[in-house]
Amino acid sequence: MTAPIYLDHAATTPVRPEVLEAMLPYFGARFGNPSSVHRWGREARVALDEARERVAHCLGARSDEIVFTSCGTEGDNLAVLGAWRAARAEGRTGVVTTPIEHKAVLAAVHQAGMEGADQRMLAVDANGTVDRASFDELASTSAAVCSIMWINNEIGTMQQIPELAAAATVRGIVFHTDAVQAFGKVPIDLRTLPVNLLAISGHKIGAPKGVGALFVRRGTPMQPLFFGGAQDRGRRPGTENVAFAVGLAHAAELTLAECASECARLTSMRDALEAAILERIPDAVIHGRGGERAPHIINVSVPGCDAESLLMALDLRGIACSGGSACQSGSAGASHVLQAIGVRGDLAASAVRLSLGCMTTEADIARVADVFPTLAQKARGTAAV
Ligand code: PLP
Repeated sequence: MTAPIYLDHAATTPVRPEVLEAMLPYFGARFGNPSSVHRWGREARVALDEARERVAHCLGARSDEIVFTSCGTEGDNLAVLGAWRAARAEGRTGVVTTPIEHKAVLAAVHQAGMEGADQRMLAVDANGTVDRASFDELASTSAAVCSIMWINNEIGTMQQIPELAAAATVRGIVFHTDAVQAFGKVPIDLRTLPVNLLAISGHKIGAPKGVGALFVRRGTPMQPLFFGGAQDRGRRPGTENVAFAVGLAHAAELTLAECASECARLTSMRDALEAAILERIPDAVIHGRGGERAPHIINVSVPGCDAESLLMALDLRGIACSGGSACQSGSAGASHVLQAIGVRGDLAASAVRLSLGCMTTEADIARVADVFPTLAQKARGTAAV
């Protein structure tokens, strides 16, 4: 029996053993509440402050610019809604985003729309790259907030965030980027990157599910989503999750230390797998391949092949991948990302996402390069016509 192969790192990653080890004391003897003044509290406060400092350092930020969150979704919600609610008082009404964002951003933009925002969708090309003319038109001085993801979680498209953020900043627009898939895949240095807000999530980088961080540049007007105590300078009230903050700091440092070598390793495995699939199935379509993209995501459609049948056949052979974003699986309808980049409905229905990461080895890729085309060819004709 061969070992199963996990190719769903864009959905989540395993907690790294070093990260778990670093967190464990805070579930045990070091259980204090960082707001308490006694020794247990002080110990927890030191750990939390250190974790904040370490996450800030990984991003080139200052520690008071880091807000710990419960996940990437919360960071995106806080960024979009917090900034919109703070800016609307000044008479700016536009909230600008792209149709290929994660639902964490799209739903927050929709909520801002319910509260009176003028929602503006940027055009993207067939690879998912933001159209600059559309950006120049919609990200005008009447816009309050602009939110553009750095790396798309379904097809891996990478946007020119430094350029777009600079253009937004000149127009006085608060710029947010969802960097949940980007941390560890692109260099991020907030000393020179002119974004106001940037969200990351722990479980994509070897920390547990249920922790993230939002960078909030000093001076960025923000309103909180929660109300209560004064934790995190009132930006995110609630007793802090010290253990998870420590885990996030540890995972961020480990990820950053390996960033260059890991990206090179993933790119070469991705290219090898794509080449093997295209060689055996020349009419397979790899979405987003013509643009600049992340090293870890392959989104492939085999015409005439139903994604669900293929995913089940792969699972039976021990290969785990997904039909798009993990949070969308189970929900009906084609991927909004593939729709936005103009993929035909039948092709979108056959799309499968293979995402590489820390668990992926060259031997895994060799096996998938052999099994995937065979199963995909067999699954042809399973698609509804
Ligand atoms: N943004 C992107 C690009 C993602 O890929 C995800 C998770 O898949 C999220 C936001 C949401 O992050 P979380 O699962 O931590 O809420």
